[in-house]
Amino acid sequence: MVLGGIEAGGTKFVCAVSDNELNIIERLSIPTTTPSETVKKVVDFFKRYPIEALGVGSFGPIDVNKDSKTYGYITNTPKVAWQNYDFVGTLSSALSVPIGWTTDVNAAALGEITFGAAKGKKSCVYITVGTGIGGGAVVNGHLLEGYGHPEMGHLLVRLHEDDSFEGNCPFHHNCLEGLASGPAIEKRLNEKASNLPVEHDYWQIEADYLAQAVMNYTLILSPEMIVFGGGVMKQEHLFPLIREAYSKKIAHYVEVPPLDQYIVPCGLGDNAGIKGCLILAEKTLDKNRTE
Ligand code: ADP
Ligand code: ZN
Repeated sequence: MVLGGIEAGGTKFVCAVSDNELNIIERLSIPTTTPSETVKKVVDFFKRYPIEALGVGSFGPIDVNKDSKTYGYITNTPKVAWQNYDFVGTLSSALSVPIGWTTDVNAAALGEITFGAAKGKKSCVYITVGTGIGGGAVVNGHLLEGYGHPEMGHLLVRLHEDDSFEGNCPFHHNCLEGLASGPAIEKRLNEKASNLPVEHDYWQIEADYLAQAVMNYTLILSPEMIVFGGGVMKQEHLFPLIREAYSKKIAHYVEVPPLDQYIVPCGLGDNAGIKGCLILAEKTLDKNRTE
């Protein structure tokens, strides 16, 4: 059995095919340009394999509501060429296989809970802090979706007392993404996040925002683990700072696992998303067989 996965990101699409144990046989990275150009290359890649199902984790926002006329579309993304694009419909007509469809971060949560840092747990939140901030979750073994999908990066957080940055989210200004994403750090300090020294005072502020987010995810979802990925989280010294800030904020109000096992770096690194897409393909095939 051969399965296919697409991690559709704003910069690149990672495509992979795997065997039935989800070992990756081949992968290809395709730059994200226009739908016609990028998706043609994606389709050409998968046509070379007898895939039985495809799992897609996409940048968004996307329509995941099965009752909606625009199910399977990328919707109001700031990437103009991809606005209102019928992604699943296009793949389905070209490849004629069942397609699992979710957000890139939900796919990463699925990857991490199956093979990564949260392996063996029933629930986890995955949050990426990179060009944007996004989060997905697995709850009792299921991807968290409702009318739409969670947008955990756009939480409202309290401005830190030493921060006066107005935020750069085009929708909400000083939401979590607007204050704490890589580009927000760069705009505020006029310096790339990757160039800030470990001792820089700003990291305490970054940790405060991320701790506020962890507190909210904890209070709403009570996950067994919160896994962080994304470029900014390569600053490993952030983890103890986030745990300390979280501990002060939550004030022992709710029980969680020991913090070094609760607020953790991702286990699969850059593979979390694509692995999750392959798991989604497998789940979609199983569901299709039993229906
Ligand atoms: P994307 O979110 O586009 O998928 P990344 O997760 O790599 O990609 O995030 C890119 C962002 O992360 C950029 O804003 C970059 O400045 C920041 N970044 C990348 N590497 C580091 C690092 N080592 N330390 C801090 N910030 C980083
Ligand atoms: Zn926002």
